[in-house]
Amino acid sequence: MRNIPTATVSRLVTYLRILTDLDDAEVKRTSSDVLAEEAQVSAFQVRKDLAYFGRFGTRGAGYSVPTLRRELRRILGLTRPWNVAIMGMGRLGQALADYPNFDQYDFLLKASFDTDPSKVGQHVGGVDVYAVDELEERVKASSIDIAFLTVPAQVAQQAADRLVAAGIRGILNFAPTVINVPAGVFIEPVDFLAGLKRLAFYLQGPAPKERVGA
Ligand code: NAD
Repeated sequence: MRNIPTATVSRLVTYLRILTDLDDAEVKRTSSDVLAEEAQVSAFQVRKDLAYFGRFGTRGAGYSVPTLRRELRRILGLTRPWNVAIMGMGRLGQALADYPNFDQYDFLLKASFDTDPSKVGQHVGGVDVYAVDELEERVKASSIDIAFLTVPAQVAQQAADRLVAAGIRGILNFAPTVINVPAGVFIEPVDFLAGLKRLAFYLQGPAPKERVGA
């Protein structure tokens, strides 16, 4: 596949959400202007993002909503289910296991893992908690592709290495630290605290430079 910019992939996910809403509302056709407004980008950007993958619309007539929705699901690899595991069944891991809607998006929670013997053998939100020693075997048995990494930051790299060694190819990393993975393995950071810090920056009032001179 061509080298697609990460920002384009993020926007394709947004376009798909918009198209899903339009399709559910039985809207048959849309345009780059509508997608652009909903996604808060320019119509040029929408057309440029889609152009990486071919031609989808007709000049003047826009896009067929069900067709573009189907094409974006195919482009994003969402036409098959993905099996998911949770590494670290503490507060966050358990909350994620309790979230009932992953399967609605074809992400199927198959297993969870923890080093704490008191958690192993428990059943949380419909998923069994296994010892990390069983990782390789369970990943193979359930064809698990993706893991949520919800361990403390100090052990996150080591836990990620174990996931990779067991055959996991995609990691959604909730630990506030940078994780290195080999080529062919993909990591997506989910950093709540970074989001909070950005909010603090915007909410603090005048920018620091303006305050210095005030
Ligand atoms: P927690 O301490 O409640 O849970 C961590 C779990 O990981 C424990 O069950 C522990 O036994 C397990 N663990 C430790 N080492 C392990 C290893 N090597 N392999 C597998 N399991 C291991 O922590 P938490 O609050 O659930 O947070 C988890 C991660 O998510 C942390 O990195 C935290 O900074 C991040 N995070 C949490 C929140 C939140 O709302 N709880 C928010 C933002 C970020």
